Amino acid sequence: MPEKIQIKNDKLIVPDNPIIPFIEGDGIGPDIWAASQRVIDAAVKHAYQGSKKIEWLEVLCGEKSFKDSGEWLPEATLETLRSHLVGIKGPLTTPIGGGIRSLNVALRKELDLYACVRPVRWYNGTPAAILDPNRVDFVLFRENTEDVYAGIEFENGSDESKKIIELMEEFGQAKKIRFPESSSFGLKPISKEGSIRLFDAALNYALENNRQSVTIVHKGNIMKFTEGYFKKWTYAHAEEHYSDRVFTWAQYDRIQEEKGTEAANSAQDKAVKEGKIIIKDVIADAFLQQILLRPDEYDVIATMNLNGDYISDSAAAAVGGIGIAPGANINYISGHAIFEATHGTAPKYAGQDKVNPSSVILSAVMMLNYMGWKEAADLIESGLEKAIFNKKVTYDFHRLMDNATLLKCSEFGDEIISKF
Ligand code: NAP
Repeated sequence: MPEKIQIKNDKLIVPDNPIIPFIEGDGIGPDIWAASQRVIDAAVKHAYQGSKKIEWLEVLCGEKSFKDSGEWLPEATLETLRSHLVGIKGPLTTPIGGGIRSLNVALRKELDLYACVRPVRWYNGTPAAILDPNRVDFVLFRENTEDVYAGIEFENGSDESKKIIELMEEFGQAKKIRFPESSSFGLKPISKEGSIRLFDAALNYALENNRQSVTIVHKGNIMKFTEGYFKKWTYAHAEEHYSDRVFTWAQYDRIQEEKGTEAANSAQDKAVKEGKIIIKDVIADAFLQQILLRPDEYDVIATMNLNGDYISDSAAAAVGGIGIAPGANINYISGHAIFEATHGTAPKYAGQDKVNPSSVILSAVMMLNYMGWKEAADLIESGLEKAIFNKKVTYDFHRLMDNATLLKCSEFGDEIISKF
């Protein structure tokens, strides 16, 4: 009997026949979803010999929903996602005009999906932008609900902007605004609670998956009270609540100041030998350079919304591009999670059965792991890796590979299934 996934005592309860809502997506979404769903169902059937099966439930959102009901994101869709906890989606068109800036952002806000999780690793054979992509294997945790994405902006010349200029005069800050008359303004809220819950998600992932470090990526050198506090709060939280399992660079700095560099180095070496996780930090611009030059120094990343947005696409390019980059938006406290393609709707390829379905397929791998269905997840991941290694790929990889076989979107799905 199909049943809902539930959460009890902070643990996800996944029945053998869970109902999982899906949003097919716009543009290339239907092609990708059709291929992905076949791969997921075949993997589950193969891994569990019929003892487990997903009951798919379509929910409407985006263009398909707008055509059906005049609503981009109906309340019924939100309610279904809310009550079923786990869902998966294809890419969605960003509505032009109207009240919704982005359907993805709206979904994340409505369900308070505060952690955007993006694993970045290389699959053998994938054409990549860096010389040695095998050295890339990290998981990005991007805060999803705060920062400039809060959507609080005031247009130049508006009454609100004029009031902001008046307020800045009162605060003695007005001279810092170079051209006040024509300036628009945006707000960047970063809170202690928001920072810590994101960091906890990253650190718990690191602890559960035997990772060696968590890197806080920030621009605290410039934005001292927002990004700077993200760093301060998370370092302090790690030291207060995980002191037996972590060693932080803030601790290193204190030891260095009191006892010198040698003592700080030996304290860090001891922590590494004891299997503690190193909590370090790096400025965002330096980080973007280092993930191309020295990617093996990074493991789990914790960062704020805008940094995370830039990092995720740039990092994806290093190992093969957004066609193969999976993602999830998760609230680890309520259990709500939506797994999704990280690319857009690529409308020029819609309906051509042409594009790479890997982004949704690998998002499904994340979903199956989240549900504890690791055997099915592993089957898909290794099938996909074999297909790429054998150079049986869609157009995006085909144009970058010598002597590859060009497959359609659906054929790539079949190729994965044939490897189970
Ligand atoms: P896009 O849809 O991501 O497409 C940009 C380019 O990326 C495509 O032309 C294609 O490059 C490549 N690409 C994307 N998906 C691919 C796939 N599955 N396989 C192979 N190549 C792929 O970005 P966009 O054209 O800027 O945005 C179109 C719409 O999507 C907009 O409405 C945007 O707001 C929305 N969007 C939605 C999401 C989301 O739902 N998560 C994310 C981003 C954008 P080539 O042409 O070079 O092959």
